[in-house]
Amino acid sequence: MELSPEFNSPYIPVQKIEDPLLEGLGTSLSILRTDLIHPVVSGNKWFKLKYNLIKAHEQGKRSLLSFGGPWSNHLHALAEAGRLFDFKTIGLVRGELATPLNSCLDDARKAGMLLEGISRSIYREKDNPDYLRSLQQRFPDAYLIPEGGANREGVQGCAELNLYFDENQFDLVCMACGTGTMLTGLATTSAIPLLGFQILKGDNYLNRQISNNLQKFGLSSHCEWSINDTFHFGGYAKTTEELIAFISRFERVNKIPLEPVYSGKMLYGLYELTKKRDFFPQNSRIMIIHGGGLQGKRGFL
Ligand SMILES: *Cc1c(COP(=O)(O)O)cnc(C)c1O
Repeated sequence: MELSPEFNSPYIPVQKIEDPLLEGLGTSLSILRTDLIHPVVSGNKWFKLKYNLIKAHEQGKRSLLSFGGPWSNHLHALAEAGRLFDFKTIGLVRGELATPLNSCLDDARKAGMLLEGISRSIYREKDNPDYLRSLQQRFPDAYLIPEGGANREGVQGCAELNLYFDENQFDLVCMACGTGTMLTGLATTSAIPLLGFQILKGDNYLNRQISNNLQKFGLSSHCEWSINDTFHFGGYAKTTEELIAFISRFERVNKIPLEPVYSGKMLYGLYELTKKRDFFPQNSRIMIIHGGGLQGKRGFL
């Protein structure tokens, strides 16, 4: 499959964060604006879809099927990618579909996605091989992608993220982690250490998950990586007034949009760690991966 050049290797700006709040605290922050890749297929979801689209095409599949919650950045991006690259798309959504649809699912449907609500108990089977076999029988033409694009092809795409900045100019790369697919991919190629911010609650599950991912895909880590699990704000998509105030200020001062599910929590955490002064070595040059997914913000208005 031919991806157009702007999809194959998009231009992604790197922006310096010059925030008075951080002055004199001994770090310098830059951010890779993957939110600017495409208005809809943005952020790490673009990287996770790239090799999935190519493989689906190679296998002669005409449609793409995946899973997500009602505000899924992944389904939203998948629907638009399907429209752009001529695949039908099928989105299996956790829980009943609300009427009217929320703006995320409404966009997905307008992009041509066939949506189906599935009960929470069936949704829990989304990685069960028997369930996936039954779905494949029902949709023989579909290429199946796990929730969040968390498969080998997703990892492979994210491994390319460090081609978009000069690693020699940085000491650390920070990112928000849900499934840990992005960090797994970058860990296989990065020359500098990675710090992931866990945005779901749960006892540092990500350390295990990322190690499992590496093993499952026969990959090994090329750099040091670690996970901070203290800035989840109570769990997935949970927020506090303090977080929302932080995000509003950050957007106003730095002119960079954030959403509260991933990038907002990561930046909050990064500011907190910077304020400690002794967490990062003096004069650390930190590259932040903006995760994109700004559509999800609408769920909080
Ligand atoms: C999906 C997503 C992430 C998390 O990526 P994982 O590979 O699942 O860890 C981070 N930021 C944004 C905006 C996302 O949409």
